[in-house]
Amino acid sequence: MPRRAHLPALIVHGGAGIAAAVPDRPARRRGMIAAAKSGAAILREGGSALDAAIAAVVALENNPLFNAGYGSMLNAARKIEMDAGVMVAAPTGGITTGAVAAVSRVRNPILLARTVMERTHHILMVGAGAERLAREAGIPLCAPGDLVTARALARWRKLKRFAPGSRHGERRHGTVGAVVVDSHGTLAAATSTGGYSRKLAGRVGDSPILGAGFFADRSGAASATGLGEAIVRLSLCREAVMRLRRMTPSEAAARAIRSMRTIPGADAGIVVIDSRGRLGYTHNAESMEVAMFDPARGLRYERVRPSRTSPNRT
Ligand code: ASP
Repeated sequence: MPRRAHLPALIVHGGAGIAAAVPDRPARRRGMIAAAKSGAAILREGGSALDAAIAAVVALENNPLFNAGYGSMLNAARKIEMDAGVMVAAPTGGITTGAVAAVSRVRNPILLARTVMERTHHILMVGAGAERLAREAGIPLCAPGDLVTARALARWRKLKRFAPGSRHGERRHGTVGAVVVDSHGTLAAATSTGGYSRKLAGRVGDSPILGAGFFADRSGAASATGLGEAIVRLSLCREAVMRLRRMTPSEAAARAIRSMRTIPGADAGIVVIDSRGRLGYTHNAESMEVAMFDPARGLRYERVRPSRTSPNRT
């Protein structure tokens, strides 16, 4: 009985990087709580981890303060290209997963990632084929310009003096993600991003890469944010989930972020949940926001202090 004490549970993040501007903080906080609440409402009704993770991520994709869906950062060609991935793990060990990369005309890339998972035999789709799938699945397409906010444009202009694709000290991350366990013990991880401002056109980050930006197996689930090129190299989320076999989610998250030290200057944050509903979250950046839910403690929001290993600066 105590094994199930924390179920169901979830945690969402809104990216790790430099702290949000002070005037934006209350609205970001409300956005994080609203996202966790939409997932929690599904879990309270006995709904699935997948539905809860998708609902939470869609809420953040629709919020222009976060770098995913509407509000995504613009690439060097001044275009939005978004990545998203989702994975579900049943307590029996069965797993399903889907992802999309560099999509421009879908308001909610996480819905398309779910469609790849549920309606195709594939794992990762890009380009015109991914958009065709969206149309066939009834996911409305939009004009790429519809997703551009004044904020993203201002950021792009500010960084224009740097070479396209250079890291140019961009530490403003707003990727969103959710990890969930439902009352049946099924786990889900979902991550969605616009990447980073002035990335090269066609660049794909960690968010749609299984094991890097998201991962789930029967022991737990993880979602990451931060410098994609580093997160992919370390298979950050898979590494964290594998560690759950011998440690708590807090320890697994801390170990994963500590491993980022091998790549100087790589900012990252991670949220981890285990099959008992225990949560772990940490980062080595300046700031990361999370919101979480479990039946005992209800909804909570936290601006997470960096782990002791941070900051990871060159
Ligand atoms: N991980 C994302 C990427 O590299 C960016 C972020 O988390 O801010 O595409």
